[in-house]
Amino acid sequence: MNMPHCNTGANDMCDTTIQIGVSACLLGRKVRFDGGHKRSRFIADALADHFEFVAFCPEVAIGMGTPRQPIRLVGDDRHPQALGVKTPELDVSQPLRSYGKKVAGDIHHLCGFIFKKDSPSCGMERVKVYNDKGIPERSGTGLFAREIIKAHPLLPVEEEGRLNDADLRDNFITRVYVYARWKALLAGGLSKSGLLKFHTDHKYLLMSHSTVVYKQLGQLLADLSRAPLADIADSYIARLMQTLSKPATRKRHTNVLQHLLGYLKRDLDSAHRTDLNETIEAYRRGEFPLVVPIRMLQHHFIVHPHPYINQQVYLDPHPQALQLRNRL
Ligand code: SF4
Repeated sequence: MNMPHCNTGANDMCDTTIQIGVSACLLGRKVRFDGGHKRSRFIADALADHFEFVAFCPEVAIGMGTPRQPIRLVGDDRHPQALGVKTPELDVSQPLRSYGKKVAGDIHHLCGFIFKKDSPSCGMERVKVYNDKGIPERSGTGLFAREIIKAHPLLPVEEEGRLNDADLRDNFITRVYVYARWKALLAGGLSKSGLLKFHTDHKYLLMSHSTVVYKQLGQLLADLSRAPLADIADSYIARLMQTLSKPATRKRHTNVLQHLLGYLKRDLDSAHRTDLNETIEAYRRGEFPLVVPIRMLQHHFIVHPHPYINQQVYLDPHPQALQLRNRL
């Protein structure tokens, strides 16, 4: 497996390997109840070139073996039990929860987690929970996944099925890199200047999600002496990650692109300005993917460098080789 590094974009702010947790069957490991796997080409091939995966199979880890009897969630959707489908006397709820708690305590180095959808152990949402009449409702979370998410509310999490959606795919990988940069900031020693620089670097990325939250977070950082810096930082990253968890819209991207164009107005002649403006408008109308105006802006900022824009994560939030903005 490759050992890639967090070296994306104009912001080479961290130089350690980015590690992501993953349900082991998604990597092609034959750990499913039927002895098979659910290999995802996007995860096992494309993402593997950029991240180091840490694989978990909770059902194998608690000793269920492979192949094994399938299990399902039964009861109340907030506190369901994981019972055998053929033998309801088989109750692995407690071992799955205990294993989830144990793993949650060991994964502070991870910058994301990809779960297998629909699994009573690994599913992130909409997992079937059967009521006492045997009728399923898609209202549950896998018992292992629930412990991970509960213990790490900031950790970017996603399911492999949702990663087929271009917006959700881009959004998840963007959040992984933001979280990795945040961890690098903390690992280097939190400072007032570091926190302010982090906010500045993420200005346009955050604005592509919410200008209101960008301003609110600016106010939060306006007086760094009023409370312990660590407390302010905790509030900051919680709000930032929550805001980034909702994908940016075409309208907000257009707004950010126009802001960035403003930095070039004095440097470009009228023909280039018009061309760039029309390209942004064509993106707004859905005629081009986001990568087109972004690539043009990157080109112009190479010719006309601007120190403030050079540090903006927005123009280069994740590796171009993943082509995540080609379908946005
Ligand atoms: S979904 Fe989770 S528990 Fe099921 S096989 Fe995959 S990794 Fe194992």
